[in-house]
Amino acid sequence: MADKLHVDIVTVEGRRYKGDADFVVAPGSEGELGVLPRHIPLLTPLAPGSVKVRNDGEEQFFFVSGGFLEVRPDQVTVLADSAERADDIDEARAEEARRRAESLLQQKLSDADQAAATTALARAEARLRLAELRRRRRV
Ligand code: ATP
Repeated sequence: MADKLHVDIVTVEGRRYKGDADFVVAPGSEGELGVLPRHIPLLTPLAPGSVKVRNDGEEQFFFVSGGFLEVRPDQVTVLADSAERADDIDEARAEEARRRAESLLQQKLSDADQAAATTALARAEARLRLAELRRRRRV
């Protein structure tokens, strides 16, 4: 049997995915990371973006807002601040979050508020990108 990765995607709210994979792509803070079985051990922060899990030719996509990725030769663990399946993304909510963040960023803000609005905007944009990808793959 071919090598498989065991994949866990968890948040403080609970487990979002558990299953096998042949290949995982995750949004590392330094760029996209592709992980195959027998990858060298690795721990890296995550940027807001999408995690792709491919298994037996089928692909599943998840939004992650940030967090950490831990890779061991047979295991990928995503510890996300928040995560949802691409199918569960509420686009109207993400649009609203984007508008809110954009309008905040036009105001004079403290450094902390500016940083919070910038990361909120990055989350909203990543959700909207994944929602669009989901739509395109269905047609
Ligand atoms: P909002 O301002 O709309 O709450 P947010 O980026 O601040 O967005 P998060 O802190 O990332 O939200 O997530 C809080 C919870 O809400 C998590 O459970 C997350 O999965 C869920 N969530 C947030 N936005 C969406 C969305 N657009 N679609 C589906 N679930 C969402």
